[in-house]
Amino acid sequence: MKQRKTPLRKCVACQQMMPKRELIRVVRTPDEQVLIDLSGKKSGRGAYLCGKRSCFKLASKSRGLDRALKIAVSADIYRQLEEDFIQVEDEFNALKDSAGDKADDNDEE
Ligand SMILES: [Zn+2]
Repeated sequence: MKQRKTPLRKCVACQQMMPKRELIRVVRTPDEQVLIDLSGKKSGRGAYLCGKRSCFKLASKSRGLDRALKIAVSADIYRQLEEDFIQVEDEFNALKDSAGDKADDNDEE
């Protein structure tokens, strides 16, 4: 019997490999906006951060998102992302807890 592997992604700040559902996806949309994508289904180039505020700070310091998304992410955008993250944090943690071993049908970037 084959066990379904949990897709792993690397946090662009601390470089840790984590199961995808424990990371927050940040997406660069086709019109070059940088947004938090809790659903994981927005189209665009994605980067992942673990759900920790310290990683936003680290990413902003190390320009981790700039590299991952291949776009210049301004300090304002990092600040906005951090604010958004604080707002979605509860939802994110709830999703994480309820995600269980639901099939993950969205394994593309
Ligand atoms: Zn991290």
